[in-house]
Amino acid sequence: MTQILIKNGYVFDPLNGIKGEVTDIAIKDGKIVDPRELNPEEGITVINASGKVVMPGGIDIHSHIAGPKINIGRMMRPEDHYTTNKPGVFPYIRAETGLSTPNVFRIGYEYAIMGYTLVAEPATPPVMTRHTHHELNAIPIIDKMAYVVVDSNWMLLDLITNNDPKLLAAYLSWILKATKSYALKLVDPGSDFAWLLQGRGLDISDELPVYNFTPADIIKSIAEAAQVLNLPHKLHVHCNRLGFPGNYATTLRTMELALNIHRVSEGLALHVTHVQFTGYKGDSWSTLESGGEEIAKELNSNPYVSLDLGQAIPDRAVTTMTADATFQFVLYHIMKNKWYSSDIESDGASGIVPYKYKKKNYVNTVQWVIGLEVALLARDISRVFIATDHPNAGLFTDYPLIFAWLMSKKARKIP
Ligand SMILES: [Zn+2]
Repeated sequence: MTQILIKNGYVFDPLNGIKGEVTDIAIKDGKIVDPRELNPEEGITVINASGKVVMPGGIDIHSHIAGPKINIGRMMRPEDHYTTNKPGVFPYIRAETGLSTPNVFRIGYEYAIMGYTLVAEPATPPVMTRHTHHELNAIPIIDKMAYVVVDSNWMLLDLITNNDPKLLAAYLSWILKATKSYALKLVDPGSDFAWLLQGRGLDISDELPVYNFTPADIIKSIAEAAQVLNLPHKLHVHCNRLGFPGNYATTLRTMELALNIHRVSEGLALHVTHVQFTGYKGDSWSTLESGGEEIAKELNSNPYVSLDLGQAIPDRAVTTMTADATFQFVLYHIMKNKWYSSDIESDGASGIVPYKYKKKNYVNTVQWVIGLEVALLARDISRVFIATDHPNAGLFTDYPLIFAWLMSKKARKIP
């Protein structure tokens, strides 16, 4: 039997309306109980938390922490590791290294320091997921889970063509079970298929090559299968046209799809991820504006969608990595430095390109604004998740900065 008493901390528990009350939290056998239920005769571990915050463990629903992309990123960025090596001190900690592509030990320690207890790896290709789990298992302290990428899977595209929703749901259920994944992920739906065959991406209403349906049809079919399966996190969508000016319109149309999904189970219908990267208004980089206000308006009027920010962090060197190979091809031609591109058993594709966000870069400044604008204008913040799409728009270790920007106008005035 374990008994823990956390004393005198500032307790925050939004679900129970507790906002910074100084109180004690008692834990017995892994469950929070009334402090009077602890038995002093059986030994109590007392933690003095005075002056500190006590809160439920943080959950990061989108952070690339494991899988083949991360390992390639580590190999591509030796400069990310030179200055960060920290030797392990037996038997307490193990060696740490890396900033935007940290090693497994650093990932666990840094998340734990920030108070996070659960992190989702948001894009694991089915055939590579055994590797993803090996890496997740090596990350200490925190709990981990993975979303499996199913947007350009050939068998799945055949099942959508055959218009057999039951068989589609059964197939997705099997993929989730076989890969031990928590949720279904779509990356630029249909685009990897078009990329592999024709070297191009797709907007939400473009027809896929070979198949006569659109990315919108893929989203709707899989979202409805997720309803049938009653998944706790229904469908995690990286919108089409990510990273291209004017793409906020595609994001709005993706969010609107949630209204037409046949709902047979509880909860939200869609989650739109790293909305900063798909919140661009304007028709070129020089006329770029934030589409954050329009996205926040859609979120406020559409109760079936949640989103995360993909918040950009000024002056941060990052390693962009995504199953959106089409966009990485474009980014490589902007950066003209390193580029890794991979086709994964015809099931998907991905790319990796190092990048640096700059305070004086106009586009980067607009990117910084979009994430914050969406969060500040959202009325139901329980459907808005803080994330940097680590390591794409910033690092997960940058989260305290984002919280400061959202809490304080003064903090937002970056010099
Ligand atoms: Zn991502």
